[in-house]
Amino acid sequence: MTLIPNHLPTADLQALDAAHHMHPFTDGDELNAKGARIITRADGVYLTDSEGAQILDGMAGLWCVNLGYGRTELADVAAEQMRQLPYYNTFFQTSHPPVIALAKRLAELAPGDLNHVFFAGSGSEANDTNIRMVRHYWAARGKPSKKTIIARKNGYHGSTLGGASLGGMSGMHAQGGLPIPDVTHIDQPNWYHEGGDTSPEEFGLERARQLEAEIARLGEDNVAAFIAEPVQGAGGVIVPPETYWPEIQRICDAHEILLIADEVITGFGRTGNWFGSQTWNIRPDIMTIAKGLSSGYVPIGGSIVSDHVAETINGAGDFNHGYTYSGHPVAAAVALENLRILDEEGIVTRCGAETAPYLREKWMQLADHPLVGEARISGMMAGIALTPDKAARASFAAEGGTVGLRCRERCFANNLVMRHVGDNMIIAPPLVISKSEIDTLIERAVKSLDETLASITADGLM
Ligand code: PMP
Repeated sequence: MTLIPNHLPTADLQALDAAHHMHPFTDGDELNAKGARIITRADGVYLTDSEGAQILDGMAGLWCVNLGYGRTELADVAAEQMRQLPYYNTFFQTSHPPVIALAKRLAELAPGDLNHVFFAGSGSEANDTNIRMVRHYWAARGKPSKKTIIARKNGYHGSTLGGASLGGMSGMHAQGGLPIPDVTHIDQPNWYHEGGDTSPEEFGLERARQLEAEIARLGEDNVAAFIAEPVQGAGGVIVPPETYWPEIQRICDAHEILLIADEVITGFGRTGNWFGSQTWNIRPDIMTIAKGLSSGYVPIGGSIVSDHVAETINGAGDFNHGYTYSGHPVAAAVALENLRILDEEGIVTRCGAETAPYLREKWMQLADHPLVGEARISGMMAGIALTPDKAARASFAAEGGTVGLRCRERCFANNLVMRHVGDNMIIAPPLVISKSEIDTLIERAVKSLDETLASITADGLM
């Protein structure tokens, strides 16, 4: 017998939701006035709502359901693990088979000498771990002044105090007194919106060299690490110019700055390889992981740590840090099964070799739409910029948010989940999406763009 009220009519569920549930990143009054769309089940790339509509999930939930919905193997593994060992911690000199196997598997999959894993319950928690770990690392190596972490404006690293401080989201910093001390931000490699007259190649170098300038300003002896997403996700799927990452890598190497690649979105196949660091040829000292690690079926995150960082931390006595759910046995078992399926069914390989290139071909054609100024893509994450003036790469100024929001609402009405970030529309579908489902996604996107164009033209915004 379930206590879950699946049987209630939509309006009753919406009323209860409004009365008792506070939603993340949401204007509560606005949502409660109109009522949330209630999602009741999902299979493959499709969600079903309480009215029976089938919605193509172009965002894989929150960029996490890499394996697609409805994989009963994960449910079976979770049930079996709950029966055998539902919980035990790894704090006081104990361990358990699921966490041991998952750490080993991650060490095999991760590039280079990223061979050690510190688990967390989410991406935000993992980035909080990273802040404490890199500072502890430098203190253990006799350089306690190396504390500052350099991050990027419009980056996203989570919603905890630490994660939101590393992130460069002004709307988040405006609430609750952020960022915490000793975190600074350089500009993002967003050529379309900020590149002006420079070429993408020049701009990529220019933005990377801001890191060197910031290290010089702070003093190399005060800088612990640089953190960035290989491809910015929540910032609007900002694909960096090809020149950017090689220059960042050179600067981190030259100045003894630890490089943290936040792979929470880009990990586990999203960019066409197991990790974005492989796609972009980055050699991080630490990688943040979450989301696709379990395809979102259960919460789990972590930091994959290189040999030299692990040796220093392990050799420095107690690391006074950890979460009740670090290495949770059920989450670890589900993640392990998820990784098995992604690998054995060739999902990551097929995405890199076939479906992501197919999506690229279709997606880039959206740039021909009169409302679209730029189309960009890396593997299975993609964005378009909406513009009133293609040649000027202009934004919709004050109405910008409104146009993106209008388009998102058109998409939702057309049974496609596409997210908006200001004037940008973004997608990151499950990696299992087929070519014909990609065709459906593109058809619904074009229809929604046409309707958005008609509506803003009627309102005199274009
Ligand atoms: N880092 C990145 C790059 C993310 O995209 C996110 C979540 N969108 C996080 C960290 C935070 O992860 P979580 O929401 O699991 O805390």
